[in-house]
Amino acid sequence: MNVAVLAGDGIGPEITTQAIKVLEVFKKEGLDLQFEYAPIGGAGFDAYGSPYPEATQNICRKADAVLLGAVGGPQYDNLDRPLRPERGLLAIRKDLNLFANLRPAILYPELANASSLKPEIVAGLDIMIVRELTGDIYFGEPRGIQTNDKGEQEGINTMRYCESEIKRIAHIAFQIAQKRHKKVCSVDKANVLETTELWRQIFTQISKEYPDVELSHMYVDNAAMQLVRAPKQFDVIATGNIFGDILSDEASMLTGSIGMLPSASLNETGKGLYEPSHGSAPDIAGQDKANPLATILSAAMMLRYSFHQEDAAKRIETAVQKVLQAGLRTPDIHEDGCQLVGCNNMGDAVVNAL
Ligand code: NAD
Repeated sequence: MNVAVLAGDGIGPEITTQAIKVLEVFKKEGLDLQFEYAPIGGAGFDAYGSPYPEATQNICRKADAVLLGAVGGPQYDNLDRPLRPERGLLAIRKDLNLFANLRPAILYPELANASSLKPEIVAGLDIMIVRELTGDIYFGEPRGIQTNDKGEQEGINTMRYCESEIKRIAHIAFQIAQKRHKKVCSVDKANVLETTELWRQIFTQISKEYPDVELSHMYVDNAAMQLVRAPKQFDVIATGNIFGDILSDEASMLTGSIGMLPSASLNETGKGLYEPSHGSAPDIAGQDKANPLATILSAAMMLRYSFHQEDAAKRIETAVQKVLQAGLRTPDIHEDGCQLVGCNNMGDAVVNAL
């Protein structure tokens, strides 16, 4: 189990250190985890003049999974676009063909007050959004801005999905649902967009291979509404790139605590990139204030989805919950009556709970 560790920028090094501490517990217990470190983002630019340097590419291609902190920082904002840290992320996703993005929106009962919604609507929320990441209107051709027959400027993007792209993301969604509450809600706009009419047909067809999973369909406008009206009705939401982009941000905000949310991006062989949903938080970098739990939970996803270590993944998630139950909080999730801890102590607490 070779893991490429890309700490990145800002709080990236602090939070990945905590996740590695947690993974070391399993290594000591006999899990054959090997870590290889490489720079990405601004750190890649500083070391090699590129946000996704060749040395990092080689390590990531060889690895079975990648654990990433975060990239970006104000010192890189004036670089030419191809050299900016965020380009490193786009490049690694493309390089490793990571077409399936998994973003859980989980609200631990202890943090129900962090949400902007009423606690009874969100407490215990546990949704998994499966978003297709390499197709759709973000990549479809033709695209661009051109002058039309009337001499007017016209912007064009093309929504496209082919059968094979829809099939592979459908399989991922059904397989994930099998490990959860066995419900997939496929989100589309099949009443208006032919691309998503095909999406709906193929999801219906693939669902026959997963008789234990219940498939439902929902239009994206309704899904956006249902997510804030009654979000606990969802188990797995599967959708295309643009709808997933919007709905996953909406769902993550239901939880109110960005420092808690992990993510995974997988390719066809189960190789994955695991990272917190938040950015590099330059405002708190190097101050031992960052919440490492999203990264620790990303490591749990890595054990589950790339290494099939369900028990180990569950143990990490339970340890995180225990730490929250014990009242430990980093500043971003702190409330009266809880014990304020830094990034490092939070990592230690999870290790102790394990
Ligand atoms: P951000 O997610 O870095 O920060 C937003 C706010 O949330 C900040 O106040 C920050 O302090 C807080 N925050 C984020 N993560 C936290 C954590 N683990 N614990 C406690 N507080 C946390 O988003 P931003 O400020 O818009 O962007 C900062 C930089 O990160 C930019 O350079 C941006 O391009 C980059 N970015 C990177 C990624 C990524 O690496 N995947 C994602 C988003 C933004």
